[in-house]
Amino acid sequence: VAVGERELVRQQLDELHEKYRLTGDDEVVSYYPPEAEADRHLFGLAGTNVDGTQWQAGDCSVPFPLHSVSKVFTYGLALEDNGTEETLRRVGVEPSGDPFNSITFDEVHHRPHNPMINAGALVAASLVAGKDVDEKVDRILERYRVYAGNPELAVDQRILRQQLRSNDRNLGLCYIMRSLGMIDGDIEEVVETYLSACSITVTAADLSVMGATLAKGGVNPFTGERAVAREHVRSIVSVMMSCGMYDAAGQWANEVGIPAKSGVSGDIVCVLPRYFGFGVYSPGLDVHGNSVRGVNLCRELSATFGLHVFADP
Ligand code: GLN
Repeated sequence: VAVGERELVRQQLDELHEKYRLTGDDEVVSYYPPEAEADRHLFGLAGTNVDGTQWQAGDCSVPFPLHSVSKVFTYGLALEDNGTEETLRRVGVEPSGDPFNSITFDEVHHRPHNPMINAGALVAASLVAGKDVDEKVDRILERYRVYAGNPELAVDQRILRQQLRSNDRNLGLCYIMRSLGMIDGDIEEVVETYLSACSITVTAADLSVMGATLAKGGVNPFTGERAVAREHVRSIVSVMMSCGMYDAAGQWANEVGIPAKSGVSGDIVCVLPRYFGFGVYSPGLDVHGNSVRGVNLCRELSATFGLHVFADP
């Protein structure tokens, strides 16, 4: 990115950030009290170009748990550890149109609809190589660090414990899936693996780099390290496009048109293949569990910079 262009992008991102910072964050609901409540005013927007240029506006160094955004990167490991064919046999790539924690499955193919909602993400977590939870979580963490180019990423144990305490839904999902033969192994271990990935904390800046790594075909733009094989990047990014925003995925594809994934901490990662990764963080959530400011900002960001992947050139 040329210097003049870099400055122009910076100004536009600052303006967008300021505009949405001022929109009412008091109208929204949060899933993760109590701290989500106190963090409601936080708002960070970071963009990383595949050439390593980075922009930051607002709260880009505040750590937050990845939550469902982790599903993207764990799915990559499931693909790597089991191959595409076996992974697709176990979890589909069809949008479900149901909320993220829905207890519904693809009855025809006998598998969860996709890896971007909880049922499919739990199966993906169960597919990560490792003899026990510790090995699996180490593998996940090590890989997330490569995506972010940040060796400090870690599981926030307090958040993990909190999630493990209020986790009937994920346990229930797993038990039903095991009774249907969709998942095997120790359910508590599967859930702990999944929730550990959800409890890895990053900043908006980290998240933009993780997105940029996917945009760059799996290679971290700062370190040059490969986080995932190129052949899997296409599978990961296309399932983000069709299923990444829960039951608002269709609307997002229509209005924003950038592959993305959201999480209930109010985070969104966007991947514009060959160009950018964006990381957005703002805890206020809409009815789908997507960040209110994040969605509004991305809609305008896409329009301002002409980023919709199906827009006219
Ligand atoms: N950790 C959360 C859960 O599974 C993640 C959900 C989400 O971000 N939608 O309950």
